[in-house]
Amino acid sequence: MQPERILILGGTGLARQAADALVARGAHVVTSLAGVTRTPHLPKGEIRTGGFGGAEGLATYLRNNAFDWVVDATHPFAAQMPVHAALACAAAGVRLLRLEAPAWIAQAGDDWRMAPTIAAAVLALPSQSKAAVTVGRKEIGIFFARADLSGIARMIEPPEQAVPPTWQLLLERPPFSLAAEVDLLRAGNIQFLVSKNAGGPRVAKLDAAAALAIPVIMVQRPAKPVVPTAATVDELLGRLALRG
Ligand code: NAP
Repeated sequence: MQPERILILGGTGLARQAADALVARGAHVVTSLAGVTRTPHLPKGEIRTGGFGGAEGLATYLRNNAFDWVVDATHPFAAQMPVHAALACAAAGVRLLRLEAPAWIAQAGDDWRMAPTIAAAVLALPSQSKAAVTVGRKEIGIFFARADLSGIARMIEPPEQAVPPTWQLLLERPPFSLAAEVDLLRAGNIQFLVSKNAGGPRVAKLDAAAALAIPVIMVQRPAKPVVPTAATVDELLGRLALRG
């Protein structure tokens, strides 16, 4: 029997774990990366890089390469690709699964203020406040544009914008320990933490904010097409009938 041909739309740690697990089970896996990260951690299997040219381009790619499945494992805040994946899979007659960790949920001790968008998160910060902003390099500019704000901007790779002198740029890749997160928020006299609701296992910055009674401006995920979704790699393997 021919191995299943699976296209993973990647760019996340979960996508990488899925690719490794599927390759280990004998599937033919191609992971597609947008090409925005200069030094990505690469999964097992084949890699292709760069956009497809919208939903039509993706549909053509799926037909030309005879995929059995698309696994949309893009980041919960990637707004376009899930729409393109749904349209392209419908057009090309390819089965689609989404792999997405459940959103974080506030627990006792958390002071979260929900922001529907990044712009709403910027506006939620009071005048002159000091914030730790962990939304990624593509969306940091709107925070830098508010001259009354200052604080810490943490991301994996540097932003395109110049960093104003009132901001400290930290280029770091997770995971971070609770002790380090507490030290960071404390040393910077941080009053607010701004985070996207990336979801998955709860991360230390949220516990650190709760421990220090720092409010979290939590940016909500963008709306996406409703498609069959696995929350974990194990669940994905089950749905693809490739577990075990
Ligand atoms: P997006 O708005 O959904 O995508 C914008 C365009 O980038 C898409 O229309 C597509 O171009 C291309 N693209 C996106 N993901 C791709 C993939 N896996 N393979 C090939 N092309 C892809 O996504 P985004 O927010 O710009 O994020 C880009 C990538 O970074 C995603 O793969 C995502 O998983 C990853 N990422 C995003 C975030 C975030 O917070 N947004 C965080 C961590 C990682 P075409 O229309 O030309 O096909």
